[in-house]
This record gives sequence, C-alpha cells and structure tokens, in this order.
Amino acid sequence: MSGQDGQDVAQADSADAAGEGTLSFDRRYREMLGAGLDLLDQGVTVFDAELRMVAWNGAFLRLLDFPESLARQGMSFEDFIRYNAERGDYGPGDPALQVAERVARAKSFQPHVTERVRPNGQVLSIRGFPLPHDGFITVYTDITEQRRVQAQIANHQAELEAHIRSRTEALRRSEQRLREITDAIPAAVAYFDRSLIYRYANKGYADWFGWSAAAIEGTQIREVTGQEVFAIVSPYVARALAGEQLSYEYTLTGRDGAPAHARSTLVPDIGPDGEVHGCYVHSVDVTEQRHTQAALAQAQKMEAIGQLTGGLAHDFNNMLTVVIGNLVALKENHPDDPLTENFVEPAMHAANRGAELIRRLLGFARRQPLEPKPLEVNELILGMSKLIRRSLPGTIAVSTASREPCLVAMVDAHQLENALLNLALNARDAMPNGGELRIESSLEHLGVHAAADLEVPPGDYVQIAVSDNGMGMDGSTLARVFEPFFTTKQFGMGSGLGMSMVYGFTKQSGGGVRIRSRQARGTTVALLLPSVAEAEQPDMLPAVPSDIELAGKLVLLAEDDADVRAVVRMQLAELGCVVVEAENGAEAADLVENIPAIALVISDVVMPGAMDGRALARFVRRFRPDLPVVLMSGFAESHFQPHASIDADLHLPLLAKPFSRDKLLAALRPFAA
Ligand code: ADP
Ligand code: MG
Repeated sequence: MSGQDGQDVAQADSADAAGEGTLSFDRRYREMLGAGLDLLDQGVTVFDAELRMVAWNGAFLRLLDFPESLARQGMSFEDFIRYNAERGDYGPGDPALQVAERVARAKSFQPHVTERVRPNGQVLSIRGFPLPHDGFITVYTDITEQRRVQAQIANHQAELEAHIRSRTEALRRSEQRLREITDAIPAAVAYFDRSLIYRYANKGYADWFGWSAAAIEGTQIREVTGQEVFAIVSPYVARALAGEQLSYEYTLTGRDGAPAHARSTLVPDIGPDGEVHGCYVHSVDVTEQRHTQAALAQAQKMEAIGQLTGGLAHDFNNMLTVVIGNLVALKENHPDDPLTENFVEPAMHAANRGAELIRRLLGFARRQPLEPKPLEVNELILGMSKLIRRSLPGTIAVSTASREPCLVAMVDAHQLENALLNLALNARDAMPNGGELRIESSLEHLGVHAAADLEVPPGDYVQIAVSDNGMGMDGSTLARVFEPFFTTKQFGMGSGLGMSMVYGFTKQSGGGVRIRSRQARGTTVALLLPSVAEAEQPDMLPAVPSDIELAGKLVLLAEDDADVRAVVRMQLAELGCVVVEAENGAEAADLVENIPAIALVISDVVMPGAMDGRALARFVRRFRPDLPVVLMSGFAESHFQPHASIDADLHLPLLAKPFSRDKLLAALRPFAA
C-alpha cells in the first residue's frame, strides 16, 4: 500500500507469532494486495470496529487530496473527518458539529451511499459497506465527469422539451389560423382517405351538408352526402383515387328545399411512392351563378329577338301603310262599285289584321306607342273580370282580390287590359277541365336584389298577379314562354304572341314579369308596374283640343319612301292641306328656308343622308321656331315614354305608322289654329 512503510506492516503483524516463512508470506500478500489496490481508479479505505484505519490505497489520497502523512495504519476515522471539516470540505458550519455528526453515523455501521461535491467542484460518490466483525470498507469514485455529462444531457433534454413545447404551440396556433382561414373562405374544402373517410372538412363544407366539421371527420362520404349525391359523385371519387384530377358539377336539394348546384374539384393526394393516399375536395356553390347566367342568357335572348322583331315590324309597317293607304283611296274613289265590296274589303280586312299583328310584335319589341297615365288598377281589374267571366267557360271560377283599396300605376290602360285578357286566356287553356282563376293586386316593394332580377330600379311597384290551378309548365316551356311565336298549343290554337306581348308591354312600361309555375299545380304570372305615389298623382286627362280648320294650310312632307309619301300626301290632301314634298332631310330644310308659307312640317324619323327627321326638326326649331313639326315613325324607338305620342328627345308629336286619316288629323289638329 502506498505511503506505508515496512515498519507499519511489521507492527501490524506483530501479533502474529508465526515464523519467518509465514511472516514473509503475509508481507508478500499485503504488498501484492497493496499494489493491486493502488491500480484501482477508485479510492478504498477499510476501518475496523473502533474506526481505526486498517487499509487504504493511493487513489483514496489522490481523490480526497489528503497528504500522504495522514494515512497511517491505525489512524482514526475521526482524524480524517476533522481534517476535512477544518479545510472546509463539508461547507460552512461548525466543524466540531460536522465531525460529531459524521462519526456518529459511521458508528452505526450501516451500508450507505452518499454523494459529495468538494469545494473545487469535484463530485465524489462514497459507498460504505459494513464488514464482518463490524468495521467497514468505503469506496470513493470520482463521478465529476459522469455528473457533468448527465447534467449536460438533462440540460439538453430540457431545452429540447421546451423547444418541442413551443413548436407544438406554434403548430397548434398555425393550425388554428389555417382552420380560421379555410373556414372564412367562401368555398367548401375537405380531405378524405382511400377508404372514403373524411379526415378534414372546413366549416363551409360541413354547412353545405348540414353537418358540423368535427362530426364529419372520421365519417364515411356516403353518410355525409346522402345516398343520392353519393351515387352521382362516386364515379368521380373512384377516378380521383386512381390518380386523376377532375372537376364536375352536381345538384342536391338545399336545406330550403330548392335545388342547389355545386362545382367540385378533386385533387388526388399522391405520396412520393406514387401511391394515392386520399383526395382533396374543393367545392363551390354555383347556384347563384347558374341563376345569374340563366337570367343573363334570357335577357340577351329577349334583347336579340326584340331587335329582330322590331326591325321586321318596321319594314312591314311601311309596306302596310302603302297597302292600306292605296286600298282606302281605291275604296273612296269607287264608293259604289260592287267590286270594291268584293275585293277591296277583304284585302283591307287582311291588311288591318296584319297591322294588328305588327302592333303586337312591336309590343314585344317594346316599340309600340304607349300612353301611360296614372291609372287606378283595381277598378280596371273589376271591369276586366266581368268581361273575362263572360268569355270563359262556366267551369272556371273567376275571383279578384286586392290588398289595397287604391293602387295607382303608371301604365297604358288599354294595353293593360289586353295583357290581362291574354293571361286569362292562357289560364283557360291550362284548365281544360275547369278550375280557378284569381286576379290579385297588391303593392310590392322591390329591394336591390329583387329589382336587379327584373332589371328595374328598386322601389314600389303595383303587382297584378293572375293565377290558375291548371296544368302548369315544365322547365323548358318556362324558359321560352316569352319568345314570340313560342306555343305549345295545336296549330291554329295559339299564336305564341300572348306572353311576348305581356312581357314587352310590362318592360316598356318600366316594370317586369315574374312567373311561378309547377306542373299539375298551376301558374301565377305577376306583372309589376311602376307605382305612382299619391302625392305624384296628377289630374287625369288633359282637355281634348277643339276642332279646327286645316284647309288651305301649306304642309311640308318629308319622307324617303315614295309610296308612303304618296299615301300621306293623299291623306293630307283629303284634310284640305296643300302639300310640298321632300325626299330627304336636306331637301326639306332647303324648302323651309325658301318657302315662308310652310305652316307645318311632317317628317319621317329615319331618312337617308346626313339629316334625319330629328335633325330636320332641330334645324326648323333654330330657323323658324314658330313652325310646328310632327314626326312619323315605323316604331317608337324610346324604351319608355311618358307620352307615347310625343317624341322623347325633342318633345314633338310622334305618329306611329300605319295611321288612319283620323289619327293624322288628331296629330295635326293642335297646330292648325
Ligand atoms: P299561346 O297562348 O298562343 O300559345 P302565349 O305566348 O300566350 O302563346 O303562351 C306561350 C306558351 O306558354 C303557351 O303555349 C303555353 O305552353 C305556355 N303558357 C302560358 N301561360 C300558361 C299558363 N297559365 N299555364 C300553362 N302554360 C302556359
Ligand atoms: Mg296565349
């Protein structure tokens, strides 16, 4: 044992009375043991029952920084402890107490394990084991490095845990934010896996099917969408799960019972291994879009048909003006000729029917001359209902109802009657076995959306609704109901002009038409006409102008169509006027400049050349402000006119072709005085 001299060993062995051989064996034995112990990294001490040192090794002295002089055979345990206490190894405190405490504990000879940090930072593990016959062996291990590594590991672990905690929190927040974003976007988003189970759904998606997002997750597609929708979408789902990205549309019954349309896109979720793990779904509610598209298409179609019809009607008007004018002249020139009766009368009858047809077409094209006036509609409805009752078979009950005692609309009375009659006849045809016809009137306020649907400004409208409980219409009939010449009736039974007239007339009056129809249930057609507030209701009709003398007046007639010109000239002549003619605006202006005797100008609106009817009228206004101008036209061009017999731009009288001599007289009369 290091630090031991042979003397000590000899003394220790002095009790052994063995001979030289034994002695040298013991000595050799001890030396071997000592050398062996000195090889240990750990310190070792052995104390006997009286706590006196029996054995120790070099590592012990080294680990505890004991001077070699301290280690002696028989040295008391207490001396070591005191040495430690005095150099401050046990920390602050009374050294005597520290020593007493430790010595007392050692005397109990209990196995013990302690760990001690020395003032220099060294960490020692001290383990004591009792020996037979009391006494104990103590093993000292320097665990400074081990503890340092452990502390480092613990430190790392704590850091790692803190990092994970903060990452988890950040993830949770970002997931929350993502959810908020996906919930806020106006689209339905979901994800389902290969086994057709939803793994994610945003609020829009859940709402669309009337589920909660939490309930959808983990549920089968079929269960969420219902069997009907599932049957439609499952072929697409199968294709998407086979790796194809695709879009499709489908219709389901919305929660309000109305059909709702959705457009969905499926994007397969393909892993790096090429396997499809599931599928992202993105759906948009296109119900409103479909609705708007349909409304737009309908409006465009009506506009196109209107223009076509308007153009055709205009040309026919000119032709009929010529035909009727010449027939009238023929008849008047040969009043007593029986041939007139036989040939001219039927021709005139047919031409007049042609003119009537044109009038209805113009009605659709919104180009018929209207005379809108403030009109109390309840009274008109009551009057019409009597007429309708007489015209319909007894199996149809006709009733009227009004929610307001007085409803004043700005409308042409005659055309409104015409429209109601058309609706009543349609209702009759829809109820071949009898039924009920109701005409109801009310005041409706159209908000921004309802008004936009009808392409009218928001505000108050007088509604007249004609309802029947007849056969109703299917979707394709409903889509074409306003088209001129569209009819589902047998040849000769329907002209297909009734609803187009109703539509054109209401539109031209600044209103709109709403139709609700269900097959086998019935139809309601509602006309919405601009309402006139009480404060705005003027006194009804202006006084009829008194009769006057046109004879002898010089009238300038401007008209490019020679035949039309001839007819109008004849009519003017019959009224006693003297006529000068011009083929176009420029020629007419020339005449106005040169003939001061011209008392009246009557001009076509549309004429070739730089100066049309309105330009001519403007010229006359400047050149001879006192000279009256009357315009004549194949159609009234403005969309809505407060007084149809007045040109909207220049406030000039406007004659609609073809016109009778009486109409012409009525138009010219105010200027004859
Ligand atoms: P017509 O009566 O000459 O056929 P309309 O323009 O008045 O022409 O009507 C067009 C079509 O609209 C009708 O042929 C019919 O199919 C349908 N229709 C109109 N009103 C009704 C109604 N009240 N009930 C059922 N169908 C109707
Ligand atoms: Mg009809």
